[in-house]
Amino acid sequence: MHTVLVVEDERKLRELLRGYFERAGMSVLTTGSGAEAIEMARTSELSLVVLDLGLPDVPGQEVARELRARSPVPIVMLTARAGDEDRIRGLELGADDYVTKPFVPRELVLRVQAVLRRGAPQGATGAESFGDGELVIDHERREVRVRGQLVHLTPTEWALLTSLASAPGRVYSRSELINRTRGYEFEGYERTTDSHVKNLRRKIESDPGDPVIVETVLGGGYRLGLVRDRR
Ligand code: CA
Repeated sequence: MHTVLVVEDERKLRELLRGYFERAGMSVLTTGSGAEAIEMARTSELSLVVLDLGLPDVPGQEVARELRARSPVPIVMLTARAGDEDRIRGLELGADDYVTKPFVPRELVLRVQAVLRRGAPQGATGAESFGDGELVIDHERREVRVRGQLVHLTPTEWALLTSLASAPGRVYSRSELINRTRGYEFEGYERTTDSHVKNLRRKIESDPGDPVIVETVLGGGYRLGLVRDRR
């Protein structure tokens, strides 16, 4: 059973969301405080955090940064601001998705379910190795190792990397990647993909400024720069 933490200072909305998530079969924790959210993330096993950006004590962005520094728990942001810059900033902080207020609760539940599905094991099974073992993706354990080191990816980063790795060398456009990583058609911004790629590279490339695993193809998109190893 999934446990969702709802961080929202408007009590009415918080309780409304609790009802929606519970009816969707999830266990729900709630708080109206950013500081408490950080504490709860430390002490509870969370499947996902729904995070309002406008909190009275600690700004949502700061809460996201704190959560991210500790774990790859998926984050879906609630933002009152419709500005692109705010959304992009949220995604750069590692949020997996965002919903702009006012929103239909049902839509938020669908987004949350899509993010949780992304984190679930997909079609591929077993472990695959690329670039003479530089990159190992274990689909069953949902683990990624780079040069032998375990790296913790968010569901979006995992979906991005496994999409690229499903056909090494093939060029994926930004819009193709955004739809694959979200699991639904998304009127996205190309910069959204770029933000996630940037975060992913920071975790897996020896030199994120000169990437060799996730390569940029000018005018095209991205591709996996490593060859799949023979078993
Ligand atoms: Ca608020």
